[in-house]
Amino acid sequence: REIATDMRTLTEQVERFAKDKKIEIETLKVRETYRKEFLGNISHELKTPLFTVQGYIDTLIDGAHKDKVIRKKYLQRAQKGVERLTYIVKDMDMITKLEVGDMSLEVVEFDIVELVQQVFDQFEMKAAKKNITLTFDMDYTDPIIVFADQERIQQVIANLVVNSIKYGKQNGTTEVAIEDLINNKVIVRVTDNGEGIKKEFIPRLFERFFRVDQSGSRREGGSGLGLAIVKHIIEAHNESIYVDSEPGIGSEFSFTLEKVSDNIVDIEVVVEE
Ligand code: ADP
Repeated sequence: REIATDMRTLTEQVERFAKDKKIEIETLKVRETYRKEFLGNISHELKTPLFTVQGYIDTLIDGAHKDKVIRKKYLQRAQKGVERLTYIVKDMDMITKLEVGDMSLEVVEFDIVELVQQVFDQFEMKAAKKNITLTFDMDYTDPIIVFADQERIQQVIANLVVNSIKYGKQNGTTEVAIEDLINNKVIVRVTDNGEGIKKEFIPRLFERFFRVDQSGSRREGGSGLGLAIVKHIIEAHNESIYVDSEPGIGSEFSFTLEKVSDNIVDIEVVVEE
């Protein structure tokens, strides 16, 4: 009977081993598919601006350089293509670092109100081109101090504000609001009254290179990585990100941050003799 029990245990162990190996192989296959997809997407993203630059340079060499006005115009377009390539590569570099956990956070105390203002200044011109108004939902006269990586959070707000302009409507608004939550948290909301997003696409928004409308979004000049970067940064802070959107009405992206308490309480330490 002992031999039979041993045999059963051995069979169970072999079966478990085989199952584990099967799962491992399946995981490797999925990873391989992701890797291939990622590489396929990268070359696709880079091809368009690369062909644009190549096209203008070829035309210039073929004789267009002789006309002063055309020369300037084509050089400017080639320059735009190079700019686009540069930020696509920068975004790819950042997402790779974030995904392999190769980006440490420099957590400091800073004023989130001032940071939002800086982002507004940064994108004022871009918004003006579509006559979009950038507003705070109220007058923030007092600073709101949070504890996070300032540069990365600036990138998060910038990506959300840029999207709200890109997918916002002509003469629309982008509004930022900061609200207190319980447990010393704040929630930062970026709301637009733009084109909105259909429900079915919402779960996929934070995937690398996912776009609701491929050609439309590419025309707007994104890398398709903006929201994937946002999600990674927020999750690296152990915070949460939410989306609420309705087609034709607009979208709201919000995320939480740790707030530095307003009530700094002096604690008196009594040492008993
Ligand atoms: P992209 O570079 O294409 O803007 P993102 O990762 O920033 O890449 O966004 C992914 C997709 O999500 C966009 O292509 C767009 O379809 C959709 N999207 C993002 N933000 C908004 C928004 N505020 N309103 C409507 N659609 C949005």
